[in-house]
Amino acid sequence: MSGGLEGKVAIVTGAARHRGIGRAIAVRLAEDGADVVAVGSPRPPESFPEAERAIGWKGATGVAGEIEALGRRGMAIDADLSKKEEAERIVSETIARFGRIDILVNNAGLAYCGERNLWEIDDKEWYDVVDVNLNGVYLLTSRVMRHMVPAGHGGRIINISSSAGRMGAPQYGAYCATKWGIIGLTQMLAIEAAPHRITVNAVAPGSVDTDMMDATFGNMATRFGADAAAMKGLVLRVTPLGRQGRPDEIAAAVAYFASADADWVTGQTLNVNGGNPMN
Ligand code: NAD
Repeated sequence: MSGGLEGKVAIVTGAARHRGIGRAIAVRLAEDGADVVAVGSPRPPESFPEAERAIGWKGATGVAGEIEALGRRGMAIDADLSKKEEAERIVSETIARFGRIDILVNNAGLAYCGERNLWEIDDKEWYDVVDVNLNGVYLLTSRVMRHMVPAGHGGRIINISSSAGRMGAPQYGAYCATKWGIIGLTQMLAIEAAPHRITVNAVAPGSVDTDMMDATFGNMATRFGADAAAMKGLVLRVTPLGRQGRPDEIAAAVAYFASADADWVTGQTLNVNGGNPMN
């Protein structure tokens, strides 16, 4: 059972994509009772994917509206998570509006996957991915904890890793390294945060049906001279449950870690991946 988040305030990063995991997490936490800050990246509407433009999607503002429609308080913030000042702004705007932070979900991620070997990528690509997937998580988590620890009410930090953080994944460059790093950060911080009744856990999704994964299949197809559907078929063949995951299935795992049911769970990484891999 999950739920029971009434009166709690959650920040969810990477929550602005219509098909994204972050939107599903933000909506699920609101369904479970939380007020939610949906953090998106600054991107002009004309850069939205065709499917988002076709439905007049409004990014983080749209997600905040969905949260309000559920009877919770919602707020949208567009911010570049690789920048220290932006992390500090997210915290100060959340505190100004809601007065507290109980849950942080570090979901935003950047991927250049499926295309090139490590020695073929640009240095910029490596640094950009580390800046969002690892430095960005450090910046926002540290700033949130500077409020959460002295507030003394405990809390939850939930990080989104990946199957690529569980095993070496070719042509995943910095993405693979950062997603392994997230698991180490989760374990380290879980020990530091425990005396403050703050738990720190991670979810490692397998292949989930989002824009990011579509792009990865497209990149793999280019590399191997096949089509994206064939690449997807290859991945599903080695997935025991034989299908991609849905964003709401990742959100359910996050909701568990956020709930009172997980009071005695910290430092863990839960695979939500159809059985591939199993450790
Ligand atoms: P997505 O591309 O839809 O979402 C990623 C989000 O991160 C986007 O909203 C994007 O705007 C945001 N982001 C990127 N750079 C940013 C920056 N500098 N500042 C602020 N925000 C920034 O992808 P998704 O599939 O929903 O992925 C969500 C998370 O799940 C990511 O951490 C991803 O690595 C992880 N994941 C996804 C899959 C999958 O199959 N889709 C598998 C394993 C892990």
